[in-house]
Amino acid sequence: MTAVGNSRRARRAEILKELGLTPLWRAKVTNAPNQAPAVEEAGSGEQVSGHGVVAAEDRRSEILRMGWDQLKTSVEGCIACPLCRSRSRTVFGVGDMNADWLYVGEGPGAEEDATGEPFVGQAGKLLDNMLAAIDLKRGRNVYIANIVKCRPPGNRNPTPHEAHQCEPYLARQIEMIKPKLIIALGKIAAQNLLHTDASIASLRGRLHEHSGIPVIVTYHPAYLLRTLADKAKVWEDLCFARSTMQSLGTSE
Ligand code: URA
Repeated sequence: MTAVGNSRRARRAEILKELGLTPLWRAKVTNAPNQAPAVEEAGSGEQVSGHGVVAAEDRRSEILRMGWDQLKTSVEGCIACPLCRSRSRTVFGVGDMNADWLYVGEGPGAEEDATGEPFVGQAGKLLDNMLAAIDLKRGRNVYIANIVKCRPPGNRNPTPHEAHQCEPYLARQIEMIKPKLIIALGKIAAQNLLHTDASIASLRGRLHEHSGIPVIVTYHPAYLLRTLADKAKVWEDLCFARSTMQSLGTSE
């Protein structure tokens, strides 16, 4: 083993120890502006903008034609659902725009709302450690986004309407990133990406699909912080994700 290999292994051991995940989590395998139509809800299928009434479908198809800069500007100015009224900052997403891995969470919390970056709080630290456990790093072949781009007040779950209004933004991000694998973090991400009401427990451990891209479901890091008993399951999910990615023919 090379010095680099040794130091990576030592770093991983350190991370797993910090997480309290050893010995259970030891790896068995070494590896290899335009503004969007600015709209606020008006009722079924129609939304009101400065330019008059815009059909929801028009808004969606307009968003689906945007490039990165335009999309970001559009998110920043979005007033398509009530979350715009209480947010401090929108949280667009962060990472490698050509990533093989796309991690999708639920929505920003207080720290993300203040900083504009996803997963920067305690749950974010755990997510970074989950990434490191399978040799991944935020921003390097990894993109991180959320189902909704504005913080639901009090960290409540986003409503179906809020998730629906935000959906075109994530859809466009997915189209542009073209990830090889999507990891859905928690129930809200899984249910929205897979259009299901099924529980996390029933969705874990098998491959799903979103827009033709394989999806793996695991627990949300914030849940894991509260329920350490499920850490072994998350490790199983991460190993499953890693082996799935390997079978998809990429080195990381
Ligand atoms: N939880 C999420 O689901 N997303 C974030 O960005 C932060 C916490």
